[in-house]
Amino acid sequence: MNFIAKTVDIVVVGAGHAGCEAALAGARMGHKVALLTINLNSIAAMNCNPNVGGTGKGHLVREIDALGGEIGRNIDKTFIQSRMLNSSKGPAVHSLRAQADKWNYHRAMKMTLEDEENLYLIQDEAVSFYMEDDDVRGIVCKSGAIYRAKKTVLATGTYLRGRVFMGEVNYSSGPDGMQPANYLTESIEGLGIPTMRMKTGTPARVHRDSIDFSNMEVQKGDEEIHPFSFSNFDKDFSGKEQIDCYLTYTTPECHDIIRKNIHRSAMAMGDIEGIGPRYCPSIEDKVTRFGDRDHHQVFLEPEGLLTKEIYVQGVSSSLPVEVQMALYKKIEGLEHCEFMRPAYAIEYDAIDATRLDRSLEVMEVKNLYMAGQINGSSGYEEAAAQGLVAGINAALSIEGRDPLILRRDQAYIGVLIDDLVTKGTREPYRMMTSRAEYRLTLRQDNADLRLTDIGREIGLVKDEQYAMFVARRDAIDEETERLASIRINPTEENIEKLAELGSATLRNATPLLNLMQRPELNYDNLAVFDEDRPALPRHVIEEVETNIRYKGYIDKQMAQIQKFRKMENKKLSKDLDYMSIGGLRNEAKEKLMNIRPESVGQAGRISGVSPADINVLLIYLEQKSREARNGLGDA
Ligand SMILES: Cc1cc2nc3c(=O)[nH]c(=O)nc-3n(C[C@H](O)[C@H](O)[C@H](O)COP(=O)(O)OP(=O)(O)OC[C@H]3O[C@@H](n4cnc5c(N)ncnc54)[C@H](O)[C@@H]3O)c2cc1C
Repeated sequence: MNFIAKTVDIVVVGAGHAGCEAALAGARMGHKVALLTINLNSIAAMNCNPNVGGTGKGHLVREIDALGGEIGRNIDKTFIQSRMLNSSKGPAVHSLRAQADKWNYHRAMKMTLEDEENLYLIQDEAVSFYMEDDDVRGIVCKSGAIYRAKKTVLATGTYLRGRVFMGEVNYSSGPDGMQPANYLTESIEGLGIPTMRMKTGTPARVHRDSIDFSNMEVQKGDEEIHPFSFSNFDKDFSGKEQIDCYLTYTTPECHDIIRKNIHRSAMAMGDIEGIGPRYCPSIEDKVTRFGDRDHHQVFLEPEGLLTKEIYVQGVSSSLPVEVQMALYKKIEGLEHCEFMRPAYAIEYDAIDATRLDRSLEVMEVKNLYMAGQINGSSGYEEAAAQGLVAGINAALSIEGRDPLILRRDQAYIGVLIDDLVTKGTREPYRMMTSRAEYRLTLRQDNADLRLTDIGREIGLVKDEQYAMFVARRDAIDEETERLASIRINPTEENIEKLAELGSATLRNATPLLNLMQRPELNYDNLAVFDEDRPALPRHVIEEVETNIRYKGYIDKQMAQIQKFRKMENKKLSKDLDYMSIGGLRNEAKEKLMNIRPESVGQAGRISGVSPADINVLLIYLEQKSREARNGLGDA
């Protein structure tokens, strides 16, 4: 018997990486939020790799943090190793990655949710929507409980009609032995939202004591630790104990076992219809795709401090467990490995994200938002970013305010959501720096300078965080102005100092700031010309230095962004009848009617809409605005 258990403002289904951010955003913006999950033990579960960040993903985490989200703070509380990837390359691709103690990560997030006022955490399964006057007005649960709400956010991850595959064996299940969600898909499709099967896979976990690490390359954490959260930028992490990860390799014998048994992989047998993540391929995919290679990298990552489980990164598989055990024993150092959890692939329902607009609301079903893996993305960070935006927009909609739409030139979050809702995806979408055309301006180090004012304006960034941000921003601006105001004269003494630094002579008086653009000079070695400089935190110095050193490139990119914004600002109404616009090709008409872009810029990114179609659209818009100016219109 169904009953109204609670009436709230927002109900969020799923307490994974997306759901946690959505619920916290709604509650912290002052709304009553019910957060449902099939099992409280799966809160912020790291079902796959025990780490947060990496290329493109680290950028998302910093942006979520800058907007007032939680993932950055949660990993700073629970990391067991931290590394800045690509630090030898340009700042646009510097990417922080931290190994997490996945159990502490879960516990810390659960505690944060339990501490949050206005947030009700409930273990129950959503089985259908609660409707009032044909509108989605909440969720009906398996227990009969109804959570009545103005807005509903679905963040169901890899659970919808989840099915686990290990060779010939497959069964209905959520990830990691969790219960699947087998009922809600029918209601989603009942609202006219198309779904599709997607697949992802994870490697085995083996017992630490059964591994011989003696011949492996040790991967150590960085001595200088960079936190994810801006709120921890002034915190001292030196002396924090870090665990080691290890690098080993598969062998030709290992590949032979895979080739001999490839016919028994669930993919090869055609049991799995879902498409897997191109950038996290299974070991059988790698051996098949890169047949000429006789070894592949394997990273061994401890899953936590109070466990001996080791995550074997790079060897996810849907082969039978018997075959897995044989091939793992052919990996260097794993000859005697003891399995604790087998590798598996999981197939689940996702929706076609082109049915969403950039606020993540379903275009044809108001009050319903979607976030995370259900939208076709893959990864904790991608999920968290969408969850934050969906939660914020559900709250803003209740407050009658415009939704938060982040553009591609403002944030990786903008790139992520625009790609998903404009292009859709047939395989799990993973963020990478190469996806962001304006990545030099979208660096992880300046996420707060790009986004914290927005987080403040929507009401998610609270006083303490905002005060730290203002102090940092002002310090960066003041130091940049100070360096610009110091002029170095071409005196003999100064020219000698430059020569000692291996730098060319000086002809005219030059601002210190300009000298810093010379590749051999930097903030630290220019101290010889600037003895009274203020003592500044490293993160301020790094920001000032990066902005100065890359000024030329950044200016060029800003010019490109101006052009981009011009097309983004050419708005398109959601009700435009593209079928009636002469000159548009049929394919373009269909695609535009289906995706309903919000701007000419977005229309130009829809596959199947050509530059010629965009010209037709621009002429049509110009004509319409001329008619409007001349009062001709549709009278
Ligand atoms: C086997 C496996 C392999 C993966 N491999 C990779 C990888 O290689 N690379 C990568 O980047 N990411 C990988 N991931 C993905 C990563 O785990 C997800 O991207 C991330 O967890 C998605 O977050 P989410 O919040 O969307 O969903 P999840 O973290 O899956 O959380 C979903 C939540 O929804 C709840 N839920 C679902 N349905 C209902 C319902 N009807 N009622 C109530 N609660 C419900 C669940 O209890 C859970 O709390 C993998 C995941 C799995 C399972």
